Amino acid sequence: RLYLDRIDQHHADNIYITVFHQQALDRAKALDRKLVEGGNPGKLFGMPIAIKDNIAIKGAGLTCASKILENYESVYDATAVLRLEEADAVFLGKTNMDEFAMGSSNENSAFGNVPNPFDKTRVPGGSSGGSAAAVANGLAMVALGSDTGGSVRQPAGFCNIVGLKPTYGRISRYGLVAFASSFDQIGVLAMNCDDAALVLEVMAGKDEHDATSSLHAVPDYRAGMAAVSVEGLRIGVPSEFFHESLNPDVARLVKGKLHELRDRGAELVDITLPESDYAIAAYYILVTAEASSNLARFDGARYGYRSGSAEDLAAMYVNSRTEAFGREVKRRIMLGTYVLSAGYYDTYYKKAQQVRRVFQDRYREALEKVDVIAGPTSPFPPFGIGDKTGDPLEMYLADVFTVPASIVGMPAVSVPVGFDSLNLPVGLHLICNFFEEGKLLGIARHMQ
Ligand code: GLN
Repeated sequence: RLYLDRIDQHHADNIYITVFHQQALDRAKALDRKLVEGGNPGKLFGMPIAIKDNIAIKGAGLTCASKILENYESVYDATAVLRLEEADAVFLGKTNMDEFAMGSSNENSAFGNVPNPFDKTRVPGGSSGGSAAAVANGLAMVALGSDTGGSVRQPAGFCNIVGLKPTYGRISRYGLVAFASSFDQIGVLAMNCDDAALVLEVMAGKDEHDATSSLHAVPDYRAGMAAVSVEGLRIGVPSEFFHESLNPDVARLVKGKLHELRDRGAELVDITLPESDYAIAAYYILVTAEASSNLARFDGARYGYRSGSAEDLAAMYVNSRTEAFGREVKRRIMLGTYVLSAGYYDTYYKKAQQVRRVFQDRYREALEKVDVIAGPTSPFPPFGIGDKTGDPLEMYLADVFTVPASIVGMPAVSVPVGFDSLNLPVGLHLICNFFEEGKLLGIARHMQ
């Protein structure tokens, strides 16, 4: 009830697309009854959780913040959702986001902006902006987001909370609406690393509904965290992540935290990741290619919105998509179709795949020498609503530090490190080797 009341008080902030008022209370009462009747409490007993609106809950809306799915209801549960439910979590509702998770500011939502919790004239980050603002404002204890190139980590940084993107394949994508399937991962937004670890542990593991979900055993993440000590920790600091153009407050706060760890016994190791400049280009070629294919299913026939003005089948496809997709989604479908078209495939798509491989090799090599790679989460603090909407390339640069971990598939986390001169939150970003989520969160906890 406390969380639901707060959600109502923040109604104008547009953080939730759907609120499960009655269902959440009924669920809490049912859990209470279970305990009274001598049942064993699950790992997440009573934990109030918000779910990004591109993750399926049976019988609930699943809009992806798009007009094309405005009235669509899911007919099944995502595996991650089912596992949370089996652990006795309580779902509070579905959160706002950039349409189909495409964006870095939540401004691409068909259902409006979300204000940053620390300055209402600024963005909360994206695409999981609603999930991040929900946790930061106390409208959920934990929230699920999805992270394709930074959509959990960047808004976590902008909202002063912890945002974890696990290893690709760690959590089943069954029931997560696909954006770029070889990048997409469900992630966790939380106030602290312990909550993130607990929720990850419940959701992680093989799922027969997702062939890319990993067989890798799910460890006790909190035990893994406890085993991490600062003494002797080797932190890789790539020179490319601290370019002159980096916002000076961001540089100062991130470096300050790293120096603090050095004073506590960690070793800062200068490393270099020379291909870093190609991350954004490779990312936006690969994800638009995958998106153009994944979004072909929204044709006006099978899901959601259908244009009323079509006279034949082809016009129904065209008009439905034209009327119901937003600008950014259309831009990406066109870009993706272009890079995959005959004659351009080798120049763009194949080249970007080769770059992806180079990144994987470089990050693997780097993580043979250090325990973790550290840098800023975002090159700048939260920006003003409307500041970057006129220039998509400028918006894409917001992801420059989060995209590499998505290209290689490694786990990464954003952890708050303080406030800039305007009192805006700044996040520090850490990347560990595949399946080292326990170690990653353990290191992050030493920084929080
Ligand atoms: N901002 C990035 C993009 O627009 C990342 C999105 C995401 O991780 N879903 O693609």
